Amino acid sequence: MLDRLRVYSPPSFVMKLFPEFVWECSNEKILFTFDDGPNPETTPIILKTLADKRIKAVFFLVGQNIERYKSLASETISEGHEIANHTYSHYDVWGLNRKKINFEIKKCSQLIEEVQGKPPRMFRPPHNRFDLWTAATSHKNNLKCVIWSLLTYDYKNDLNIVKFAGERYIAKNSVVVLHDSIKSKDIIVDSINFLADQIEHREFQIGKPSECLN
Ligand SMILES: [Zn+2]
Repeated sequence: MLDRLRVYSPPSFVMKLFPEFVWECSNEKILFTFDDGPNPETTPIILKTLADKRIKAVFFLVGQNIERYKSLASETISEGHEIANHTYSHYDVWGLNRKKINFEIKKCSQLIEEVQGKPPRMFRPPHNRFDLWTAATSHKNNLKCVIWSLLTYDYKNDLNIVKFAGERYIAKNSVVVLHDSIKSKDIIVDSINFLADQIEHREFQIGKPSECLN
């Protein structure tokens, strides 16, 4: 039974509190984003599926995973996707430990710069938790905070839940969040295919990161 209180989009009052954050696309297209990689169990199958569907996405990478699987981060870029900052250790940046938050954001940006020769331009806070200090720190590090407008709950590893979210809530300007992690391994390929088919069926368009997030 699906939880009626499940949240598929951030509440509008939060969006208003952080107007400098990106919550949606600006061009009526739909953007796919993948959090928490790279991961040898999921990144290759995600990259293959996206290539088959000709989708370009943003991957919000965890610094520790970049250290472990640098070649996967490189492959993500060479496939034409954009990689972005999701902290060094998937740290919850909501709270008062400012020194640690600085470290988490800076270190991840450094690792991305080592991989692609330039720093990332986007940051997504883990666990969808952030505060004014998060906003200030990302701004200081030249990072645009990109949240999302459609959470599919793919990490519950149940394709029916993703279908429910996709059928009911996908819309023009959606920034869809999916996970490049072991949690959604069994359903991620079907989830991408299902969402892409839904988008096509409803005559929406999938956009590239460069055009959706200007
Ligand atoms: Zn995450």
